[in-house]
Amino acid sequence: MYLTKIESNKDNYIWILYNEKKECLIIDPGEYSSVYKLCVKKNFIPIAILLTHHHYDHVDGVQKLKDIFQIPVYGPKETIYNGTTKIVKEGDKLFLLNQIFQVFNLPGHTLGHIGFYTTPWFFSGDTLFSAGCGRLFEGNAYDMYLSIKKINKMPPNTLICAGHEYTLQNLNFALSILPENAALLLYKKHVEMLRLHKKPTVPSILYLERQINIFLNPYNFNFQGKLKSLLLEEEWYIFKTLREMKNNF
Ligand SMILES: [Zn+2]
Repeated sequence: MYLTKIESNKDNYIWILYNEKKECLIIDPGEYSSVYKLCVKKNFIPIAILLTHHHYDHVDGVQKLKDIFQIPVYGPKETIYNGTTKIVKEGDKLFLLNQIFQVFNLPGHTLGHIGFYTTPWFFSGDTLFSAGCGRLFEGNAYDMYLSIKKINKMPPNTLICAGHEYTLQNLNFALSILPENAALLLYKKHVEMLRLHKKPTVPSILYLERQINIFLNPYNFNFQGKLKSLLLEEEWYIFKTLREMKNNF
């Protein structure tokens, strides 16, 4: 199995997983033309579309791709009006490209947001980003905290395939709170170099995220100043506070 991606809109990633026969899955096609062009260029044979949530920048390419390739669309209930033909939810297992895909419910960014796991990849949509997490558009902070903790239980070598290239902004926010954190400082240098050469920073490995993502394990970070007292609070409350601070960053 191989993974590739298309950069679309301003900072979205459309993920494409394919096998040696060039059969492929398209994850979160926010537009169709670049996906169609890549399929023609690489002789890809799309067999299905997977959707994580209903936002336009993840679904706007669905109808045309579905019409052209006549393929099923797996997504959460909230994507039924975006072209989904097979509604999936937590606990469902899909057998595609000779691989098992596990579905996880990840409410928070949207209420019906889901993710797909197939070793070693996890398609996290707008729930977990590298060094950050998605905004709370529909769910509450506690929902999102639990969704992120669910991802944190996955194997450490899981490759997080996020929906956006937000890593540098996320690291800048984390460093505004933890300006002396060595792991964050070191990783920011690496990310700046990648972005300078227009290279992506995702997929990101879960064991790295555990060291640089303050939303994944708030208790693991040594917050100072007015945030120090937060370490006495329950972890989800620290998460909520960090998320609110990020909204205003
Ligand atoms: Zn979204």
